[in-house]
Amino acid sequence: MPTLFAKIIRGEIPSKQLYQDDLVTAFRDINPQAPTHILIVPNKVIPTVNELTSDDEQITARMMMVAKKLAAQEGIAESGYRLIINCNGHGGQEVFHMHMHLIGGRPLGPMLWGSSLVG
Ligand code: AMP
Repeated sequence: MPTLFAKIIRGEIPSKQLYQDDLVTAFRDINPQAPTHILIVPNKVIPTVNELTSDDEQITARMMMVAKKLAAQEGIAESGYRLIINCNGHGGQEVFHMHMHLIGGRPLGPMLWGSSLVG
């Protein structure tokens, strides 16, 4: 079964896509936790960080570079933002297609606060 994000990447499910290249796709989170909440997702399905291999180093580096580019595009590079990758149950991962959250546009508070994503 393709993952939800694989369907979004292929355009089978609509999204507010902001960026796509040969390795990653970025689109707005459907349930934003802040004025900017973007998901940066490898085009290839990697379920969690635990399944990363050394072959995926280019993908993970690209995710960071796209996060930086989109933060600047959103106008939040100077005010600041948070990058989050949840992993498995205790990490709060809900979609098992590894992804990075880019969240900003308001003060995000302390790193961990109860069970919420960003404080
Ligand atoms: P995680 O808990 O780290 O697995 O995050 C999954 C994220 O996917 C959540 O922030 C959801 O709001 C988001 N999400 C779920 N369905 C969609 C969708 N169809 N389009 C965009 N974001 C989605």
